[in-house]
Amino acid sequence: MNIVLLGPPGAGKGTQARRIQERYGIPQLSTGDMLRAAVASGSPQGRRAKAIMDSGQLVPDEAMIEIIAERTAQPDCRKGFILDGFPRTTRQAEALAKMFTEKGLKLDHVIEMTVDEAALVERISGRFTCGQCGTVYHDSTKRPRRDGVCDVCGSTKFVRRDDDKPETVRARLKVYRDQTAPILPYYRRRGQLKTVDGMADIDAVTAALFKLLGEP
Ligand code: ADP
Ligand code: AMP
Repeated sequence: MNIVLLGPPGAGKGTQARRIQERYGIPQLSTGDMLRAAVASGSPQGRRAKAIMDSGQLVPDEAMIEIIAERTAQPDCRKGFILDGFPRTTRQAEALAKMFTEKGLKLDHVIEMTVDEAALVERISGRFTCGQCGTVYHDSTKRPRRDGVCDVCGSTKFVRRDDDKPETVRARLKVYRDQTAPILPYYRRRGQLKTVDGMADIDAVTAALFKLLGEP
């Protein structure tokens, strides 16, 4: 099963992609996580990406399309995958469609998570993740069960993203409106776009998603 999760930064894509990954045994492919790994590795590609990410802009389409083509060719993607953060431009959406055709794959679900823009800055400003396993938390809506200890892997190391500062978040939201939101009509025209209410609480969003994916 191949899934695309769409929605602005902070909509809850990463949170839900991890739950889908666990339930269906297909990997979450987060282009943001891949770029952050490249930054951490200190590679030339990572150094170029870092400056762009810190300004809230998008990494060039060609680089992203190549990253996704390579990643989806890995053996763990044979049963399917969840795209989180890709596509982000019409060009990326078109390249993805071409890649699916060439590889004989089917895009089973394109799901938009809708969220009031007013909630997003608060969501992103409170976000932190486990430094070991990447589980996503929030200062007020999703704290670990034991303060300072990851629910999933027990690590005590947590990280906050450099680009989650309010001024960068505002730039990222503008980029979403200008460059990413236009791909919604692209999928709607093709009759592929489904929607879930991303303002509901985290478990309710998961239940709505699992239902869209075919659960009773
Ligand atoms: P995205 O991957 O779309 O940028 P995340 O999954 O990282 O979004 O979620 C952004 C922040 O909002 C995180 O701190 C997360 O814990 C929190 N969050 C996610 N979904 C919800 C929700 N339904 N209600 C409240 N907070 C949420
Ligand atoms: P995310 O983790 O999805 O919020 O992405 C963090 C940052 O990585 C974005 O603000 C972009 O700079 C970059 N990025 C992630 N995915 C893409 C993509 N598909 N196209 C271009 N840039 C991307």
